[in-house]
Amino acid sequence: MDDATKCVICGRDNDCALADPETPAETECWCVRETFPAELIARVPDADLGQACICRRCLRESEAKSQQS
Ligand SMILES: [Zn+2]
Repeated sequence: MDDATKCVICGRDNDCALADPETPAETECWCVRETFPAELIARVPDADLGQACICRRCLRESEAKSQQS
């Protein structure tokens, strides 16, 4: 996967402000304020790690799962 605007887990738009070259550098992406749990990052294929952001949807799903257990 070489598209930084797509989520590395589900392939949907990740809404990452930093992935868009049109975005001014001082713009803070939503992902900067979020914490990505290790178990979510572990689901990212090694080849895609660091290539693109995980989307909000996958982050929320991961949080919901960790709250259930
Ligand atoms: Zn996703």
